[in-house]
Amino acid sequence: MKCPRCGNDNTRVVKTRTKDDAITRQRCCGDCGHQFQTEEKRLSVKVATRRNPVVAHG
Ligand SMILES: [Zn+2]
Repeated sequence: MKCPRCGNDNTRVVKTRTKDDAITRQRCCGDCGHQFQTEEKRLSVKVATRRNPVVAHG
């Protein structure tokens, strides 16, 4: 993950927050100290909460 201010690749995660369908991460640049947020969509959240019975394929 690159810093949006200086473009440095040396960033670390300060905080992670999970929402229903996304993960928000607070990141800090190791070079200029700029803090920024990134958001990732969670794709497998519905699979984890709903258990489907095993259905034979075909
Ligand atoms: Zn930076």
